[in-house]
Amino acid sequence: MLKNNYEEVLNNIRRACDKSGRSYDEVTLIAVSKTKPVSYIDELINTTACIDFGENKVQELVDKYETVSKPVNWHMIGHLQTNKVKYVVDKACLIHSVDSVNLAKTIEKEASKRNIICPILIEVNVANEETKFGLKLDEVYDFIDEIKNYKHIKVEGLMTIAPFVDNPEDNRVHFRKLRNLSLDIKSKCIDNIDMNVLSMGMTNDYEIAVEEGSTMVRVGTGIFGARNYNIS
Ligand SMILES: *Cc1c(COP(=O)(O)O)cnc(C)c1O
Repeated sequence: MLKNNYEEVLNNIRRACDKSGRSYDEVTLIAVSKTKPVSYIDELINTTACIDFGENKVQELVDKYETVSKPVNWHMIGHLQTNKVKYVVDKACLIHSVDSVNLAKTIEKEASKRNIICPILIEVNVANEETKFGLKLDEVYDFIDEIKNYKHIKVEGLMTIAPFVDNPEDNRVHFRKLRNLSLDIKSKCIDNIDMNVLSMGMTNDYEIAVEEGSTMVRVGTGIFGARNYNIS
């Protein structure tokens, strides 16, 4: 059942790749398992090739990290408070949600203590929504300037959460803006700053995001079904 959902999402990604002349292996599908039990994750691991899972809460990521049946790649995709960095810095394969110098500084400090390099993405609030976290487009260069010398974090690219819209076509403009920013940063060849990852697209709009160059889509509902926040 989860297998069918997962494969349907993969097929849609492939169709979007075909449509835009991209190759399938450029796009990673992250199964967003927040609020869902570990049994769902195990089912997906055992019936598909899925090894990338996304969580938005530190405690939940850590719990699942410890109980899942096989090691997988854990993506921290939710807002991260500085006092919780120490719990995830060595468990997340990628922190998608870095949106302040203070947070980057804390990740640098905790990664340094453990002698690791922590891969991160810069979260950008492309549509300037008041309710969302993330840097504004015009703040990204200053941010990079501040953190580019940190030795224990590695900037791999950019992430955005597009607005919730009825027509996913409405988000194309935001995805395009993020991709253009990433190309612009890449063209400047800044030390320690890679722009190989564009984390954009969720259940509602991942096909458009792939057409616009996404390399990581984060799909929850489309794989695991609707979430019930009251129970969990
Ligand atoms: C929950 C969440 C998703 C997945 O959302 P769906 O609409 O269920 O696909 C993706 N990205 C982030 C940051 C999330 O918090």
